[in-house]
Amino acid sequence: MRSFFKNFNLFHTYLGYRVYVLVFAGVIITLLDGLGIAMFLPLLEIAGHTSDGVATGEEFGKLFFLVNLYAKLGLLLDIRVVLISMLIFFGLKGFFVFLEAWFSTVYRHYFVRNLRHTTIMGLANYKFIAFAQADAGRVQSTISAQVGAVANGFSHFTQVLRNMVMLVVYAGMALLVNPIFSLYVLVGVVLTYGVFLLIYRTTKKKSSALSTSQHAFHRLLIQQVAMFPYLKATGLMRFYAKKLLRKVDEIEDNQRSMGVLHAIGTGIKEPLVVAIIVVVILIQVNVMNESISVILLAMVLFYRAMGSAMGLQTAWNSFLQTHGAFESVKEFTKGLSLWKEDQGEFTFTHLEEGLRLNNISFGYLDREFVLKDINLSVKKHERIALVGHSGSGKTTLVNIVCGLLRPTQGKLEIDGVDATKLKIESFQRRIGYITQDPVVFNDTLYNNVTFWAPKNRENLIKFSKVMAQSALQEYVVNQSKREDTLLGNKGMNLSGGQKQRLSIARELYKAVDILIFDEATSALDSETEQIIQSQLEALKGKYTIITIAHRLSTIREVDRIVLLDQGEVAAEGTYADLMEKSDLFKKMVHLQAVK
Ligand code: ADP
Repeated sequence: MRSFFKNFNLFHTYLGYRVYVLVFAGVIITLLDGLGIAMFLPLLEIAGHTSDGVATGEEFGKLFFLVNLYAKLGLLLDIRVVLISMLIFFGLKGFFVFLEAWFSTVYRHYFVRNLRHTTIMGLANYKFIAFAQADAGRVQSTISAQVGAVANGFSHFTQVLRNMVMLVVYAGMALLVNPIFSLYVLVGVVLTYGVFLLIYRTTKKKSSALSTSQHAFHRLLIQQVAMFPYLKATGLMRFYAKKLLRKVDEIEDNQRSMGVLHAIGTGIKEPLVVAIIVVVILIQVNVMNESISVILLAMVLFYRAMGSAMGLQTAWNSFLQTHGAFESVKEFTKGLSLWKEDQGEFTFTHLEEGLRLNNISFGYLDREFVLKDINLSVKKHERIALVGHSGSGKTTLVNIVCGLLRPTQGKLEIDGVDATKLKIESFQRRIGYITQDPVVFNDTLYNNVTFWAPKNRENLIKFSKVMAQSALQEYVVNQSKREDTLLGNKGMNLSGGQKQRLSIARELYKAVDILIFDEATSALDSETEQIIQSQLEALKGKYTIITIAHRLSTIREVDRIVLLDQGEVAAEGTYADLMEKSDLFKKMVHLQAVK
């Protein structure tokens, strides 16, 4: 019950008043059906033993007010009236059944769309720091598989709702017709409920285990795709695939157990219900000497009620099979809203003066500071290189500049405005980031560079220009499909250097103020390196450039080098300055020269 209301609440948050429309339609359908069925009794009566062809309606029990209502309208319960009444009741019922089914479908789509929008936009607004700690497999499995399961769960839940309403209304009507008989049956139902409770509990557990295995499966799968070349080349693929197979087995074992439980539930429910009714009839007729005609309508209504109870059981069990998915989605959406990106009110248009980092310290979540009291200013069009040992905080610092991470202490000022006051995305749109592992979408060259800009003359000219600037012109000309060439998964059809140049092209196509280069640690072929160098030269004075430099030979020409050591600025100045005043820098240069 508690579980039912908890889930009812969940649907209520997404659907609002619509939930009550479904309940209301269910009540009307059941009442109409009950009345329609009740009309069989006068029919039997007329067929059996009335001489005047008019039924008395004695069997109606407390529903006798209906017969009175007919009398008030001046109608006798003759065969014509009874048959026309049946037609009207069942006709109206059909209409409401249609309405209810229609609403359910519409609401289902409404619910699923709402949920998909919430999760997708929630992920888009998810803070980077939270994402960095998140389990990618879980994120992917929740948004794709689990949301799908929840959509099915929604259908099952509307069936639960419908059957529950029907059960209550039929049982209510039966109670009105014959209270004693109905109470006996209800007691019987409650007594046998324990069997189903056991099935429900186990199903719920299996469903949670299923979701966990599905998350793990997605996590492994994502990595198998991402690391494909490595796994293949090192002969580890089959070993890795076995890990995936184990998860597949877990998933299927859980699915099978739930299926078996479902089969048991489905098989035993009808015999159980009939057994209860048979026992109660036997008691009533043999022990209490009641006539069978008095319990006839109550029995039929109960049979209907039992049908709903069975439907309820099946639907509830199916719904519980999606329990794990519901929990996952609930937890996930809670996490998304908890870690939603904060937004300032001002829109950033373009950089005019530069950036300032004032006394910035930063620690990942509750951990110790990895950046300590950084003071740094970057003037517009300046070229800065960040150097330092691995783990000294270069990437973290750049992520703070991009607004991906918020300083734990101190503040970032952009043109003198506190970054927290800006709509951060408007600032990020003016940033080009050339990452170590170049970003290549599995799409055409044109779409990769223009980020899916419409293919018109103007954009094509701009495209050709940046292709030339990033030394990719020759590559395009050599492809039979030119700009429509497909680049393959993660750019598998490109060389390392081409991927680098492609990501530079994309950033040049975008109108940006700040370019961030996270120089590849692995040495590019010297030709590509030279191209990138000369591009950096060519971009001088047009962009503000921050390079995370790993090879010190590439940064001789920059305006300023910032040397980081264990999260602190150890020294700052030109190459010559640092060679003179920083022992650490000198040591790093010598070490690289030796290699
Ligand atoms: P660099 O770019 O100079 O190699 P980073 O900025 O990547 O250095 O890392 C600085 C420190 O922060 C390191 O000690 C690293 O372990 C830690 N760090 C980086 N990313 C995370 C993260 N997502 N969660 C926790 N610690 C992190």
